[in-house]
Amino acid sequence: MSPQLSSRGNGLRRFAGQVAIVTGGGSGIGAATAARLAAEGATVVIADRDLAAAEAAAAALDGTEAVELDVSDGAAVEAVVSAVASRLGSLDVMVCNAGVTLDATVWDTDDAALERILSVNLVGAYACARSALRRMVEAGSGSVVLTSSDAGLVGWPGQSAYCASKGAIVAFVRAAALDAAPHGVRVNCVCPGFTMTPLVEQWIEDSDDPEATRAEVAATQPIGRAAEPSEIAAAIAFLASEEARFVTGTALAVDGGVTAR
Ligand code: NAD
Repeated sequence: MSPQLSSRGNGLRRFAGQVAIVTGGGSGIGAATAARLAAEGATVVIADRDLAAAEAAAAALDGTEAVELDVSDGAAVEAVVSAVASRLGSLDVMVCNAGVTLDATVWDTDDAALERILSVNLVGAYACARSALRRMVEAGSGSVVLTSSDAGLVGWPGQSAYCASKGAIVAFVRAAALDAAPHGVRVNCVCPGFTMTPLVEQWIEDSDDPEATRAEVAATQPIGRAAEPSEIAAAIAFLASEEARFVTGTALAVDGGVTAR
């Protein structure tokens, strides 16, 4: 096992005085990202449809609060973003991270399942980025980071709806970055590989043979293991920060080399 990346920011203070929203921040990659941004000085609003999880994640961090939000409700997204920006004075970083998975072949994916995936992973992420961009473009600064996936760059069997939702994020980021660039605002996404979060733990536990699946996950990784959430959070924090000020419209693979094959 590799040493854990510090979620305390490694002494950096790249977000001092900034306001950030992290959707899906109640768990996994979002919780690690909220921790990283808060450790680096941001006031972070954790927006999650699971309010208890968001509150638990926020309670452990300084300068952090929780709000209940289902990102698939565009009006609710607009209301939360508007309230945060006016109450806290700005919105500097938006991390559109909430996501759900679906394990099914194309022919077993019914309309309801397709709608469920797209409404959160694509329409929800789009709505969050849109509401943030309205404020950021007006302010003339800001950074939006979306969580896509290695499944947005390559195909995985049994993941067609998930791949479609995450591939759409990569395409969205390119176009949104071009809209935003003249206004001093950047839009990027990370494409994580397997990351040991509750979402993946659950997926492994639900498989026919969890032990075999766990071994298979490790074996498919060129680096030989799945990522820790803090390793994805570090990449999100980089893209969100001024250090990445010449980076926009990009999909940064953070996948242990999976898509390099
Ligand atoms: P997770 O299940 O640990 O956390 C997801 C969080 O999102 C939960 O707190 C959940 O309540 C919240 N959420 C779900 N639907 C929501 C909605 N409609 N509105 C608001 N909040 C909602 O998952 P994770 O593994 O941390 O995944 C985070 C993101 O990273 C997702 O977009 C996922 O697709 C992506 N991703 C994960 C992996 C991985 O291996 N874990 C790999 C690539 C991409």
